[in-house]
Amino acid sequence: MIAVPSGMKRVWISLCCIACFPLASGSCALAASCEQSDEQNIINWVDFNVPCEAMKKAIALDVDSQEKDIKLNFIELLAYLAAQNGNDFSGYRDKQLDALAEQLNSGTSMAELTKKLTYYNYYYEAYTAIFSGFVGDYEIEVADEDGEGTHWEQRYGLKVFSPIAKGFAYSHYDDFGNTRSYGFSRIHLGNDLLGLVGTPIVAVEGGVIEAMGWNQYGGWRIGIRSLDSKRYYYYAHLRKNFPFRKDLTVGSVVSAGDVIGYMGRTGYSIKENVNNIETTHLHFGMQLIFDESQKECNNEIWINVYEIIQLLDQTRSEVVKNQETKDYSRVYGFHDLSETTGE
Ligand SMILES: [Zn+2]
Repeated sequence: MIAVPSGMKRVWISLCCIACFPLASGSCALAASCEQSDEQNIINWVDFNVPCEAMKKAIALDVDSQEKDIKLNFIELLAYLAAQNGNDFSGYRDKQLDALAEQLNSGTSMAELTKKLTYYNYYYEAYTAIFSGFVGDYEIEVADEDGEGTHWEQRYGLKVFSPIAKGFAYSHYDDFGNTRSYGFSRIHLGNDLLGLVGTPIVAVEGGVIEAMGWNQYGGWRIGIRSLDSKRYYYYAHLRKNFPFRKDLTVGSVVSAGDVIGYMGRTGYSIKENVNNIETTHLHFGMQLIFDESQKECNNEIWINVYEIIQLLDQTRSEVVKNQETKDYSRVYGFHDLSETTGE
């Protein structure tokens, strides 16, 4: 296990209490995969505190540098900040990243700048797990100016989408870590996005559907693993009777921005297809998996996604309803040109 700064380790008792919450089977039986691999230095906790402003600024510096000789990497920039401020971003200002970019642009290497920052490597690895699918080359279908047709454009930049389709209203607040009591006492490991029943829910990042169906906590829920297998996206409480896009099943591959299902208020019931949640909302969660033993073995790592949802508000997927099937689908095609497969 890697050493983490004091204050970053949670009390493990609280983690044990919530571990069953997102499980596919609803059982906590320890499987063989729960044995941690022999590899040392596996990260076992991430306290994600980066504000949306810092993510936006770091990504802008990364994107702008692509035309220049010295390329900046937004993950490195954010890891530097966290290592420098001890994971306390309360005093964050854009000028901190401007000053860092200036040093890098003048020829100082990140290795030199971080020589004395003990936890830089930890943050770099943690943030790589969070962000490796977020920024890169992609191809997107764009409407022609005359409105007649569409064409494809190649771009570099943010290539993940908000889980809420474009044109559909939602509200949220930072509710990570709040208490929940259905079934057993536990803490809230995601962000609740409040909206109307039937709001199309979109895959934030592409990947493979790993779980789909009923779970007594999440109701109709869908879990998608990123192609590099480091991130598991959890979308819960989907609509009664018609929760998912009809052609999806476990094992289906989806792209970032694809419609996957519809907002509802199912869950908190052993019986399937029951509306037992008072307020209609999407529960969105993001789990990090550095080792397969962390998938569902009482040592899950869920991060606070509130600021990430804020970041993704600028990339909303436009969707259209098929009047015959009642399913929605994306309007504009998308190809990820830099998909990481973990190889
Ligand atoms: Zn929730």
